[in-house]
Amino acid sequence: MNEREISNKIEAGGGFPILQYWAEKTLSPQGVKLWQTLNHKSACLACAWGTGGQKGGFVNEAGESLQRCLKSVEAVTSELMPGIKTDFFQTYHLAQLQSLTSLECDRLGRFSYPVLLKAGESHYQRISWEEVYRLAEQAFHQPSETIASYSSGRSSNEAAYLLQLFFRALGSNNLADCSDLCHAASTVGLKQVFGSGTSMVSLESLKQADCVVLIGSNAPANHPRLMNELIQIRDRGGKIIIINPQIEVGLVKFSSPAFPIKSLLRGGSDISTLYLQPIPGSDTVLFVGLQKSLIEQNLVRWDYLKSHTENWQSVIDYARQTPWENITKTCGLSREEIEATAALFGNLERVVFAWAMGVTQQENGVDNIISIANTALMTGNAGKIGAGTMPIRGHSNVQGFGSMGVTVRLRQEIAEALAQLLGKPLNITGGYDTRALIEAAERGKINTLFCLGGNLYGANPDLNQAKKALAQIDTIFYVATKPNLGHFQGLARQNTVILPVFARFENPHPTTTESGNNFVRFNERGSSHLQGSHVDIISEVELLTNIAVKVLGTNPIDWSRLHDTAYIRQLIAKTIPGYQKIGQLDQTQTEFTISGRIFTEPHFPTSTRKAQMSVTLLPTLKAPQKQDFNQPENAPGIALILGTGRSYGQHNTVVYQMGDKYRGMPHRHCLLINAEDAKKASFQEHQRVTVQGDAGKLENIEIIFGPIREGLQRIDQSLCPLCLCGSFHSLAGKNVS
Ligand code: SF4
Repeated sequence: MNEREISNKIEAGGGFPILQYWAEKTLSPQGVKLWQTLNHKSACLACAWGTGGQKGGFVNEAGESLQRCLKSVEAVTSELMPGIKTDFFQTYHLAQLQSLTSLECDRLGRFSYPVLLKAGESHYQRISWEEVYRLAEQAFHQPSETIASYSSGRSSNEAAYLLQLFFRALGSNNLADCSDLCHAASTVGLKQVFGSGTSMVSLESLKQADCVVLIGSNAPANHPRLMNELIQIRDRGGKIIIINPQIEVGLVKFSSPAFPIKSLLRGGSDISTLYLQPIPGSDTVLFVGLQKSLIEQNLVRWDYLKSHTENWQSVIDYARQTPWENITKTCGLSREEIEATAALFGNLERVVFAWAMGVTQQENGVDNIISIANTALMTGNAGKIGAGTMPIRGHSNVQGFGSMGVTVRLRQEIAEALAQLLGKPLNITGGYDTRALIEAAERGKINTLFCLGGNLYGANPDLNQAKKALAQIDTIFYVATKPNLGHFQGLARQNTVILPVFARFENPHPTTTESGNNFVRFNERGSSHLQGSHVDIISEVELLTNIAVKVLGTNPIDWSRLHDTAYIRQLIAKTIPGYQKIGQLDQTQTEFTISGRIFTEPHFPTSTRKAQMSVTLLPTLKAPQKQDFNQPENAPGIALILGTGRSYGQHNTVVYQMGDKYRGMPHRHCLLINAEDAKKASFQEHQRVTVQGDAGKLENIEIIFGPIREGLQRIDQSLCPLCLCGSFHSLAGKNVS
């Protein structure tokens, strides 16, 4: 695809619109409070890049300032909205609330007091905290296997630790988490290969890379400050290889406010050295192809493989034996493209392989990760500065939740330490992850659900199923700062309770968070703009401790002591591997990198200290046909693979803006399609069509032409009838328009 085709909407990502947004918000009535909040010493609310903390809200993990992006302004602005007034829920009945879009829900303002919706009632009613604890006492006095939680990465490590400790004490392992939907494949794959499921690259290390291979990520929209690193790598002669079925303008050229001269004079900085557009779902195939090419071009680091890896021979044999024709046909890229890519990174000394959900949210997501890791190992790019594997994590503390033990795959050493702390062995029954939780709820197996943040309803692949499943649960507690679709659509059978809590920068006590690069941030106490007699908000730590005291009292520990977050940090230091330094954090105020995760030597925490390579078989991909939908070949329309994506004005399931100017989409009922595909079906741009998938149908969807691979269409994730994962799918979406 040539540059003109690439940039048919906007010339570069970032740039003037970002400055305009900052200016608008600065000059708004909230301007002063916005800047005070951005400067507050706490981690950014939005992505997990780790901006903000003890050294100030604009400082990154390397100590560089001016590192705050538009995404963070959107998130803070939203949290600074006024509180919902006392008469709001008396005025608006459920049917009205259920007609709201995600953006309209967010704009209602901050939850300011607890509310309850009882079965058969049309309005949420304000209730007292005493009533909340009474409901909680009843709801948690249920068989442990019927109690479950779901969480997002919004809360602190301390709240996460408390949540899982309370659940483990109750005997429940049903700790579903939003990471089950995004980077579970990364955690499982990396753990299998390296014995550690997180990034092995620190920000400091990334700064020394010669090349970044960025796969299935739209960093300009979702991790904007990563773009500064990519710009700097290009500036010193490094290479950036992008692998993505769609050309994202910000991955071609990005205009960062951190480099104003370049932005003004040159319209931005070049990002991609090479841009590959494989068929969605074929990442493993592409990486096997890259491995084959590395072998053929004699670019494999044999000494490294022999010294630091296991099972390398079978991986090499498989790549060697796989015919080129199978590779090129399945991934849709030519042998020359694959060879050029292998030559580019294979000849460089320090390469980082980074990815997001375009790779993980596939049927063979774990294989994708292992094939990337195999490729890194074949080129000696694991266990040294400037190189390694780097999953790019989404929500700001999503990784911290996993570290704190909010997972159904609890590490053995944590389980043993928690058992010692609680003075009793943990229940070893497996818990429900997010998908299993919905299925269990659908079967009537869940009585009580406690949602610490997140939007379990809206993040689900099948909204109809999610709604039905949640309606089988007796009591659901939603802990939140602002309304989302789930609060009005994901209703319980008996009691749906919404519990308002402080945002990170408002908590009356210090907390911590963990970035995607394994850096622990210390968040200072703050205060809330929400004031007045109708406001009745508490912190998550206070809420969880009060519930634990009410339900368990001093059994098996004195839960009231956990009101003190410094004490929780002491417990974390004793029970969570790599977190020892958190025990002194209140004294030292020194943020730290979690030990044992950043590998600067090729020695890994596996049983043999070597990386465990394994063969990743080529998946069989089948392009959708009209017959799959019982349509004759001559029926109007076209069958394409469906991908879903997050818009530029969106963070997770929260929508901040309706349109997406980077993709030329004026609203969210749009379908991005290659102009050549449209021609085959005689579609015009802006024509309205019906989109039919395996699980549903959407009417009146506007066609927008875009630089997307032929044979693929892309829809906004909030509309997808198949999945809300925010990324491309392989065979999930067979559609005929
Ligand atoms: S890049 Fe991520 S962590 Fe940094 S300011 Fe932007 S949203 Fe926040």
